Amino acid sequence: MRVGHGYDLHRLEPCAPSGRGRPLVLGGLRFDHATGPVAHSDGDALLHAITDAILGALGMPDIGSFFPDTDAANDGRDSSIFLREALARMRAAKFSVGNIDCTVICESPKIGPRRDEIVAHLAALLSCDAQRINVKGKTHEKVDAVGEGRAIEVHVVALLQPIS
Ligand code: MG
Repeated sequence: MRVGHGYDLHRLEPCAPSGRGRPLVLGGLRFDHATGPVAHSDGDALLHAITDAILGALGMPDIGSFFPDTDAANDGRDSSIFLREALARMRAAKFSVGNIDCTVICESPKIGPRRDEIVAHLAALLSCDAQRINVKGKTHEKVDAVGEGRAIEVHVVALLQPIS
């Protein structure tokens, strides 16, 4: 088996037109929120961290080396495209998802009320049973950038199992 860790953080700013924040998307789901990520792609920190966890488990470089933020083609890009690339590499290496454990840290929005929806959407993206995916929401206790609502942070651990 292989284990990988993924981490991502995006600065949050007021959404356009008053700021540079993009609409907030987490795990492929849109959240109605006054602030959103400043990002080159769609800024989906959860999908970015999952992608990096899978690539990490495969011993591969991170998402930015496959999809650089200097490439105009990635401007505003749907982050599920990045995840699909990591999954293709995982299958080519003859691994499947064992389980994925995610922690999303932000003051708002609350993750809990949409947790099951996020898990179901991730299960569809990952083509695996929802029981293999866990998503937890935490706050940063109102301290530091995340706690002051100026950033969102995600940690992910992915276990991959060999396809026999
Ligand atoms: Mg990112």
